Formats: sequence, C-alpha cells, structure tokens
Amino acid sequence: MQEAVEEVPLTYNAFLAGFGTEQACVSALFAARWPDGFRCPACGGARYYPVSTRRLPLYECVKCRLQTSVIAGTVMEGSRTSLTRWFHAIYLLSRPDGISALRLADVIQVTYKTAWLMAHKIRSAMSDADASVRLTGNLRIDRCYYGDPVFDDARQPLLIGASVDDEETPVFIKIKQPLPHHVVSDKRFIKPEGIQAFYEEHTDYADTPDSYRYRKAHSTLWPIIQAFPAWLNLTFNGIGAKHLQLYLDEFAFRQNCALQNFAAFSTSLYWCANSRALAYPVLTAYRPTLDTPWLVFGSKARWRGTHLSRWGA
Ligand SMILES: [Zn+2]
Repeated sequence: MQEAVEEVPLTYNAFLAGFGTEQACVSALFAARWPDGFRCPACGGARYYPVSTRRLPLYECVKCRLQTSVIAGTVMEGSRTSLTRWFHAIYLLSRPDGISALRLADVIQVTYKTAWLMAHKIRSAMSDADASVRLTGNLRIDRCYYGDPVFDDARQPLLIGASVDDEETPVFIKIKQPLPHHVVSDKRFIKPEGIQAFYEEHTDYADTPDSYRYRKAHSTLWPIIQAFPAWLNLTFNGIGAKHLQLYLDEFAFRQNCALQNFAAFSTSLYWCANSRALAYPVLTAYRPTLDTPWLVFGSKARWRGTHLSRWGA
C-alpha cells in the first residue's frame, strides 16, 4: 500500500473545499498518477505539451507525440462521468462504512448501473492495494464465515489472516474466499489445502514448517470477524458469493488504513489513479463459487423445507 498525507479524518467540508471543481480534481489526479512529474506511458518521456481541446486536458508527449488523458490507465479510463462525481464516489467509499450503489447513485446523481460500476471499479483498486502487501511477521490465521448462522450449507467459509504485534493487536488483515474445491461443500469447512493456498498467495511464509501453518486467531480478531458480516448486511442487505471477495477487500482496505494510520481517501485515490480499469464484462464474468443450496434444491422454500424435515419439525 502507499502511504498518503491528509487531514485525518478528511471532513466533508474539507473534501468539498479541496475537490469541488473539475480543475481541482484534474490536478489531484495528475499528482496521484505522476507524483514525480509526467511520464509518457509509451516512451517514458517527461516533457509534454498540454492540449486543452476536450472536456479533460490531454498531454502530448514531445518525443513520440502520443496524447495521454489524465484518466487513461486509471480506474476512470473510458468513463464519461465527471471527475467531481468520481472523487465524490472515492471519498464516500473511503468513509468508515462505505456506501451502497443505490445511495451513491442518489448522492452523485447518476444511474444505478453507473454507480454500481464506479463503486466496483474503486473496489477493484482497493483490491490491488490489498494484493500489493503480503502478511508478514507474527501471523494469525483462522476460519470464519459469512452468511446464515443456522444452515451450515448456506454459509460462505472464509479465511481471515492478520499480522499481529507483540500485544496480539492486528497491524494488517486480509479476508479471503477459498477456492470452491478447497471446501468440503456441504459442511462448508475449509480443507488444509485451502489454508496452504492462503499462505502461498497472501503471506511471506510459503515455506514455513507445518507446525507454524495454522495459528488460530487471537480474540483481538473477533471484533473484525463480527464487524464485516454486520457491515455487509446493513449497508448492502447482504452480498452473494460471486462478488463477495471485492467487498471483503474493500472492508479490509479501510481496516488496514485505520490500523496503519493511512489517510483512507488519499490512499484510495492513489490506487484508483494507478490501477487499470476493469471492463464491465470482466467485472460480471463467471467466477467459480460454492453452490447456493436453494439453486440446488430448485427454490429457497424447498431447500428450507428439506432442512426442516431433516430436523423432524
Ligand atoms: Zn512518448
């Protein structure tokens, strides 16, 4: 992750004063994308002519003549939405509870589909921030769940991992969905292969001895394990398995900004300026997830009926 400096927390008035106009947003995006000055994405040249013939300024490379827009190569690439709306969305997703697409659409006055896509692209930048850091030092890893506490087979099993300090306080966390074939499907129990995969992908400890591999979480992780399901249910009315990982990364991003004393808005702006835009077909593409029981049984009512009859109710 990239550290950033701002008034913490950035009040709404301070945000509006700093980023209320399109010009202010262009300058801030330019600075976030090229902190050491302009670099041509094609040839690396540092000198440019400004071309101001369109809604957003273009920068023409002196060496190779390539014209680059300030949003090319960012999550905003190809978007016709104004930068003030984008900045508003980034600001609101950086606030402690984030925001649903429905409310975002209302606040910044865009359609629901546009708001959903913007929020998802900002989340994917937060995901990139998450992927740039591996858990290191003293690790705690535990299984946790999202979903129905009564019916085991309707839950999404998850792994939470944290680097902790000497007082067992988490300093950086990750919450990850295991691959479906790493889960015992009906019990929703993550197999050891799933924990091994977590170690290999998200920590610096791929080669640690077996005895160190699975360290049950200390109670300092419990507030986090309880907080993210509550947040998913209250803010979004619950999230299905397909997009769950992006929401978990959004949650972990804000947690980690707080744990690391990073300014959440500047940090997410940095990642939005330095992450590739994901196209709609990529965001909505098929992802393997665990079976949803009511799809297997044909309807939610029949699935619940099956459970009740098993219990003899
Ligand atoms: Zn160039």
